[in-house]
Amino acid sequence: MKYVLDAGAIFSRIDIDAAHTTAAVCAEVRDRESSQHLERLLASRKLVVREPTPGAVSLVRRTMGRTGDGLSETDIGVIALAHDLSGHIVTDDYGVQNVSSLLGIPWSPTKTAGIRQTLSWCLRCTGCRKRFPPDWSEGVCDVCGSRLARSKR
Ligand SMILES: [Zn+2]
Repeated sequence: MKYVLDAGAIFSRIDIDAAHTTAAVCAEVRDRESSQHLERLLASRKLVVREPTPGAVSLVRRTMGRTGDGLSETDIGVIALAHDLSGHIVTDDYGVQNVSSLLGIPWSPTKTAGIRQTLSWCLRCTGCRKRFPPDWSEGVCDVCGSRLARSKR
């Protein structure tokens, strides 16, 4: 499971392994304590900085246009990176959660990230309707190959 953190997740001092974020998020972290937390995560390799692909960025832009959610360039990059990595977003931002759901990207609020049992949703195949756990890493159905979307348990 790869987690993608937005700036809010870093401000909340979240500490999980296999986390990713973008350079734009790091640039938004300016207060001293959050910066030190960020430095520790980067130094321990718990957090890796990566950039989203241009294709994923334009996919997120198109999806955002359908919802009317106003997202910053940083938000768009975070969602696009989660899409590239078939990852799981950690965010408290309603707009980011909304667009991620439409793209079938699982997410958690910062309070419950990493606590699998508290998730009240699962992934469901858009083709054959098979259910998958929220941390299913393949991104597509192992039966029919269709895209997975978020669904209530
Ligand atoms: Zn299927």
